[in-house]
Amino acid sequence: MSKVLIIGAGGVGRVTAVKCAQHPDVFSEIMLASRTKSKCDDIAADVKLRTGRDIRTAEIDAENVPELVKLIRAFEPELVIHVALPYQDLTIMDACLETGVNYLDTANYEPKDEAKFEYSWQWAYQDRFREKGIMALLGCGFDPGVTSIFTARAAQHHFDEIHYLDIVDCNGGDHGKAFATNFNPEINIREITQNGKFWENGKWVETKPFEFRKELTYPNIGERSSYLLYHEELESLVKNFPTIKRARFWMTFGDEYLTHLRVIQNIGMAGIEPVKYKGMEIVPLNFLKYVLPDPGSLGDNYTGETSIGCRIKGIKDGKEKTYYIWNNCSHQAAFDETGAQGVSYTTGVPAMTGAMMMLQGKWKGEGVFNVEEFNPDPFLDVLGKHGLEWHEEINVDLEM
Ligand code: NDP
Repeated sequence: MSKVLIIGAGGVGRVTAVKCAQHPDVFSEIMLASRTKSKCDDIAADVKLRTGRDIRTAEIDAENVPELVKLIRAFEPELVIHVALPYQDLTIMDACLETGVNYLDTANYEPKDEAKFEYSWQWAYQDRFREKGIMALLGCGFDPGVTSIFTARAAQHHFDEIHYLDIVDCNGGDHGKAFATNFNPEINIREITQNGKFWENGKWVETKPFEFRKELTYPNIGERSSYLLYHEELESLVKNFPTIKRARFWMTFGDEYLTHLRVIQNIGMAGIEPVKYKGMEIVPLNFLKYVLPDPGSLGDNYTGETSIGCRIKGIKDGKEKTYYIWNNCSHQAAFDETGAQGVSYTTGVPAMTGAMMMLQGKWKGEGVFNVEEFNPDPFLDVLGKHGLEWHEEINVDLEM
């Protein structure tokens, strides 16, 4: 029985709140706090309709440490689940340190003025979290999150050495809009327009955005053009599984999406440098977010499925082996259950499940951890029951 404070009331915050509310035995009291309280109140009303439970709501600026400390002290949660934006990772971690409360997030820290994401800033909290006797669990969404837990399962049960890892992320859904992103547009566009990189033979190899493309076949979806990107879990996976010779991340994009993105970039709307507009400073990408469809509103009429998994090659008992582990998630089923589409669902369900692991003491430690450092079994044992069934195949063609 534990109190939990969820910060962030977007699509992921909605799913996390609904899923936590479904488990009163673990999450005895829930507070949802975000910058705009009315969004928390709307979600709370929906949680009541769907689960019969009352959750509390609050307004918070998660970039203001004293405000966070005040809210945490007043509510006294055992854990803060941070599903606002990556810009707030460090301030929320600071508030957790000050109040002695555990922390979980789904995306690593990014400074606002530079599209650069890496774990160094958060790993730097290791000693302070350990000394305080509290735990931070980083990157517990789907990717990062479940993809790293899938890799940990492969290492624990299927391989003596993992040599090649390809994480493959396909959104085979159709939301009927000309252009929309499936999670926060600003974070999403920053992520995919920067140079890519992958790990090979002990070093990072840099690529231009969308330089490498492969046609990959996804279960129940079919063939889709998949592009090599840098994704944050690669950094912790090559550190925690040092036998990996090559680690890459692939994401599918349709031609229509890429054409829109190219136009957005060419006209300067993906810029993160402030520009002067009628006497005030605006960041073009920041403004773009307000004219694009809200990812949280894409659920209605969203058809098709996501398919995210790991394709792995390595050695078991002296023989070469291949392994594919994945989940498919239906946008419609996600929407029916939580009021949010599949990308929010595949992030919020692992966030709730990771929180459950921490609160039940199945994953415990003092310091800062990535999800693959824990035993994957208890997490994967319940992930299917929580809505994300997974499948595995051995010695199949990985198309890599
Ligand atoms: P949204 O943009 O829909 O929601 C973000 C929420 O955070 C909004 O409610 C917003 O408030 C709130 N917020 C922003 N700034 C602040 C602040 N300073 N103080 C308090 N609240 C704030 O994003 P999503 O729900 O789509 O994504 C949430 C997180 O999940 C992101 O960090 C994203 O990177 C991560 N993610 C992780 C994935 C994974 O697989 N690991 C996949 C997808 C997303 P307001 O409503 O006022 O704007």
